[in-house]
Amino acid sequence: MQMQEDLSLFQKIATKLLQKEKENGVVKPIPPKELLNQLDLELQDEALSEENFEKALTDVVYNTPRTSTSLFFNQLFGGRQSKGTLGELIAAMLNNSMYTYKVGGPQVGIEKNIIKKVCELIGYSENADGTFPPGGSMSNFMALIMARDAHNRKIKNEGVSSKMIVYTSEDSHYSIQKNTTFAGIGINQIRNIKTNANGQMDVDALAQQIAEDEEAGYKPCFVNATAGTTVLGVFDDIKAIHNVIKSKDIWLHVDGAYCGAAIFSDQYKHLLKGLELTDSFSFNAHKMLGVPLSCSIIVTQDKANLKHSFACDANYLYQTDGDDYNLGKTSIQCGRRNDALKFWTLWKSIGTKGLEQLVDKQFHLANVALDYVKNNSDYTVYSDEDSVSVCFNYKGINPKLLCNSLYEDAELMVGYGSFNEHTFVRLVTVNTCNEEEDILNFFKVLEAYVEKKQLAEVNV
Ligand SMILES: *Cc1c(COP(=O)(O)O)cnc(C)c1O
Repeated sequence: MQMQEDLSLFQKIATKLLQKEKENGVVKPIPPKELLNQLDLELQDEALSEENFEKALTDVVYNTPRTSTSLFFNQLFGGRQSKGTLGELIAAMLNNSMYTYKVGGPQVGIEKNIIKKVCELIGYSENADGTFPPGGSMSNFMALIMARDAHNRKIKNEGVSSKMIVYTSEDSHYSIQKNTTFAGIGINQIRNIKTNANGQMDVDALAQQIAEDEEAGYKPCFVNATAGTTVLGVFDDIKAIHNVIKSKDIWLHVDGAYCGAAIFSDQYKHLLKGLELTDSFSFNAHKMLGVPLSCSIIVTQDKANLKHSFACDANYLYQTDGDDYNLGKTSIQCGRRNDALKFWTLWKSIGTKGLEQLVDKQFHLANVALDYVKNNSDYTVYSDEDSVSVCFNYKGINPKLLCNSLYEDAELMVGYGSFNEHTFVRLVTVNTCNEEEDILNFFKVLEAYVEKKQLAEVNV
């Protein structure tokens, strides 16, 4: 049985990977130009012997950047919630597609249940529904399309023919730009509202801009608020934004890709106060909750909007059961991988309280990091409390240079970001497998590296 053998091979490779991750948190990167020389990536005409196949595969696996170790802080995900990984592996074995009940069966119930729980948790009504898009960018896209179509029911057939205006803060995610082009709205129709000193959308500036656009005869149709901006991890004031637009025909979406999972925490959900007043909300379970990539959820107050924008008939596909169970009627794709199971396996095993602990832990780790940099005069701090992005510079060293050489020398994976005129190292504490000592170790490695490099420079 080939499958049994391949499962054993998987077990062998995965076990060794776990061991290697412990020994070496960062792999030495292969420069892109040397990749084809160093690894056997070529596709040849003849079949490979099992032995050579295993060698080619393991070489690739062991040289791939390690995102699950305690030295990876480079993006807004990290670590490995093993019950989530288990769900992902099972989803691969089952290989369902989520478009119909006929093909998805109980997996459809799993997806619907997660969506229902999330809607209840944030105070959306019975009428609410949602789906699992292929990532946070696409969640924002679906929100924009629903807003566009809710604003004018004819657009679905006739296309966009007026200037529809989209509002988002200057520190929001770049998918908003891409999405306006996909939606036929156009980048020129985005108003990048300035942020205040904390990095939140300036709500007075928003109100003023909307008034100007209305006066010019344009059609304000969509406001994107961010729950956890990509660089600073800051939460826009949803309630204040809602106050500005509540009497207007404008869709309010909350992009919680990064930190929307704070809804699971009693202590931190106030950061999304007013969420129940919004039209749609999305978050990435693959960021703060540690579910394997990708796992993004969007929910909306009135499921009619989801149906209107995303349901089309196809009698070769929808042959049994009702629309409510044929999830392809509300998704952006046709064939769709099962992103729900891996979230369910994690949630089922640790409970909603367990998810809360994951969220609380990240804020705790961020506080540990923030305390450390605040209490050490070699650091300049650029971020604030209530954020899982801790932004700083060390001894005035150019952050771009520092992050890139830490990577090239396989010491740490961490990135930099900018806010206003400053560029800084951005340490994110989203890896829920990390402990306090891992965060302190981050600084230890960084400081030792700077020291070592300086010695090296002296020696030159
Ligand atoms: C990560 C992120 C996104 C994009 O999510 P993807 O799953 O990478 O497409 C959108 N918005 C914010 C605020 C993010 O941090």
